[in-house]
Amino acid sequence: MAKLYFHYSTMNAGKSTLLLQASHNYRERGMETYLLTFAFDNRAGDGKIGSRIGIDTEADTFAPGEDLFDKIKKRLATGAVACVFLDEAQFLEPEQVWQLARAVDDLRVPIMCYGLRVDFQGKLFPGSATLLALADEMREVRTICHCGKKATMVVRQDAAGNVLTDGEQVVIGGNEAYVSLCRKHWREAVGDREPRRAR
Ligand SMILES: [Zn+2]
Repeated sequence: MAKLYFHYSTMNAGKSTLLLQASHNYRERGMETYLLTFAFDNRAGDGKIGSRIGIDTEADTFAPGEDLFDKIKKRLATGAVACVFLDEAQFLEPEQVWQLARAVDDLRVPIMCYGLRVDFQGKLFPGSATLLALADEMREVRTICHCGKKATMVVRQDAAGNVLTDGEQVVIGGNEAYVSLCRKHWREAVGDREPRRAR
């Protein structure tokens, strides 16, 4: 049975590397894969999935507002695909996650999504929240904090290394850097961000 998978983690955990390795395993056995990544410049087409260890592969792109059921259906019409791999899944719209789920069920193609769970403010990305709700299988891609504990949170830093606590959930093409931390060290880094009831 085809399934919808969500491989989630924080920044710099090597998600794209795992995606490319998994896709390679199919292709090595003579099976086609279909790679998708977010269209950072909003143009569909010539994307690339890169990894920090230096390998990268051409990929098709998805953009906000695009119907991903239709996109996958059109791709399948041109030839068999053993598995769809989708990177930057945190940028999916909730509607697009539902379209992926429908593609798994009705087109019977497995779809593996790779993405971030929470943003730099500790909030779920809407696409990731929907994947957590709908995915058949979920796997955590682990990385560690400087203290050695599992990193589950991320801080955004400016070019000078100052931790930023406000701003848009998605910044594209900025100079910001991201550091993955355990929750304790994230709380220390961002100050007291705990939501509390008004008294
Ligand atoms: Zn830590």
